[in-house]
Amino acid sequence: MSELPFRAPAQFEPLCFAEAAESSHWFVFSADRLLVEMGPLERPSDDLRVRARPAWARLPLQKNHNWLGAEPKRTLYLGRLGGVGCWAAELGPDAALPAGMAWEGLRPLFSVLDDDHFALAGRALQLLQWDRDHQFCGRCGAPTEARRDERVRVCPACKLSAYPRVAPAVMALVHRGKEILLARSPHFPAGMYSALAGFVEPGESLEQCIAREVAEEVGVQISNSRYFASQSWPFPHSLMIAFVCEWSSGEIRPQAGEIEEANWFEVLQLPKLPSKISIARRLIDAVCQEIREQT
Ligand SMILES: [Zn+2]
Repeated sequence: MSELPFRAPAQFEPLCFAEAAESSHWFVFSADRLLVEMGPLERPSDDLRVRARPAWARLPLQKNHNWLGAEPKRTLYLGRLGGVGCWAAELGPDAALPAGMAWEGLRPLFSVLDDDHFALAGRALQLLQWDRDHQFCGRCGAPTEARRDERVRVCPACKLSAYPRVAPAVMALVHRGKEILLARSPHFPAGMYSALAGFVEPGESLEQCIAREVAEEVGVQISNSRYFASQSWPFPHSLMIAFVCEWSSGEIRPQAGEIEEANWFEVLQLPKLPSKISIARRLIDAVCQEIREQT
């Protein structure tokens, strides 16, 4: 299996503190859009949320943030990629665009931006959000402080530590003979179906979470959950953990408000599927191939 998008690059060393100013990759965000030097919008996209992709895009390589022409709201040192420093920065919504640059969402930059840079952009987006959301202690309200040796914000008054948060979520592709169960959430693009997914609750194992989510969302009982793969998912800060499981009983009853439609699909007659950016597509493709090979 080729590597999933957002996988940490092999040549990346995470660090929290830069020893010296040097030419570095800059991952500058305003809200959820990344600042890139970008070619014309012309390539079609396989992501139904994206109309077109830029023909090419690249990150700025700069020594410090002066080239931005505005003071960033925050900067975070991410570490080194192949020996080159990497910085994340956040600009306010009113910041002027540096000459020759453009703001672009991460989805259209998939397979356009260098894969390693794309993965680190996902990391940068999550860390900037964490830093923004933990400026004050959640327990006593005092301003928190960053540490140089560890990615954490600590409250000097009550010592509470706020580490970057990752929310585990399971994804389940249920199959029954030659069919797979796909569903539509109301916020999906028109016509698109995907595997079921949901966040893990406190006090629950991954296997219990899958059984609960599948039962809640479509009213079906499952067995034999088998781990498939996992993917960091920065929209906003999830870890998607994907499983294949077998239908054991029950008819489909979509959960009101959560599932607009759910159906069994034959592997040769599939609806529109999610983009290859997500583990959902990888999971669906792998299971369909397995079913086709068995029949
Ligand atoms: Zn505190």
